[in-house]
Amino acid sequence: MTHPLLDLAPLTAARFASIEDRVARLLDTRQDVVIMQGEALLPLEGAIRAAAGPGTTALNVITGPYGQTFGNWLRDCGATVHDLAVPFRTAVTAEQIRTALARHPEIDFVSLVHAEAATGNTNPVAAIGEVVREHGALFYLDAVASVGAEPVLPDAWGVDLCVIGAQKAMGGPAGVSAVSVSERAWARMAANPNAPRRSYLSLLDWKERWTDAGRTALLHAPAQLEMLALEACVERIEAEGLPAVMSRHASAAAATRAGALALGGGLEPYVREAADAAPVATTLRAPAGLAASDLVARALERDPGLPLAAGGGALAEEMIRVNHYGSDATPAAVRSSLAALGAALAERGARPVDPRAAREAADAAWR
Ligand SMILES: *Cc1c(COP(=O)(O)O)cnc(C)c1O
Repeated sequence: MTHPLLDLAPLTAARFASIEDRVARLLDTRQDVVIMQGEALLPLEGAIRAAAGPGTTALNVITGPYGQTFGNWLRDCGATVHDLAVPFRTAVTAEQIRTALARHPEIDFVSLVHAEAATGNTNPVAAIGEVVREHGALFYLDAVASVGAEPVLPDAWGVDLCVIGAQKAMGGPAGVSAVSVSERAWARMAANPNAPRRSYLSLLDWKERWTDAGRTALLHAPAQLEMLALEACVERIEAEGLPAVMSRHASAAAATRAGALALGGGLEPYVREAADAAPVATTLRAPAGLAASDLVARALERDPGLPLAAGGGALAEEMIRVNHYGSDATPAAVRSSLAALGAALAERGARPVDPRAAREAADAAWR
């Protein structure tokens, strides 16, 4: 008896290449797109280790937990790192980047996270890209949480290394990921004696033995199920249309924010300005005296399928996350999430809680 997940024909090089091309179309890029056989941390780390070394001076922008990780990798590579940290309730501005670059003209690498699913903010990459390009630095972007939820345009924005994963707004698998690489970035890697080579982390291996070799022979057996899932997920996005998928995410975020404000009970948006709030996930601040983790647990007890989570680590007590990943970016998921949070707040004694006002505000804000 054949098994649908187990007894598959091998994934051919041609099929692999066609999946890369579809991902490139999703990003509207003519840069090389390399699909890495691991979760997004693989290309995120691989790109930094390939492009940065002891001669590098980096501006590392910290708007959430991932920025911290990138700074650690950059230091580990021997780079001189200038951190620019902004409060997680805001976004960084192009002006702040301009000031930091003017203060340290030797900066030749800028790392930035586009949207932060963990903190719910999003950064103005188009405007920042202009400033980085003017300065001439290489521009590294983590777009894992933004792709599918809002525009991600590496070519138009001058991003040299743009990393994506499918597990957030794309509604796809977590086990493979992709990075688009500019000519400038390839040149930087080629000139870096410390860039990983003959290594699972190596982007240069993929360039030399796959992309430049005509994409006829894979380096090793690919993660076949994850590649097929990525293909299916891109097909589904193409069928709905990327603009429609992004619009669903924007609506889900706007509706959740408006609904939470109308719900009452002391619940507040965690990200201060709506313009800085990411379409991929809406973060809320629990009322004083009530633990976010407890409210989320109560809400999930009522409805275990809801896309709710408490903040990670130190944020678990104050932050509630309403995720809008892929198929969860719907009016129904937003309404049910608000209703369950309202019930949890009321149960814990928060007053006044108005679920009907929340639902009306959410429906009105859905664009
Ligand atoms: C989700 C996410 C990743 C991928 O990390 P996981 O925790 O493994 O899902 C990377 N960067 C950002 C900004 C993310 O939101």
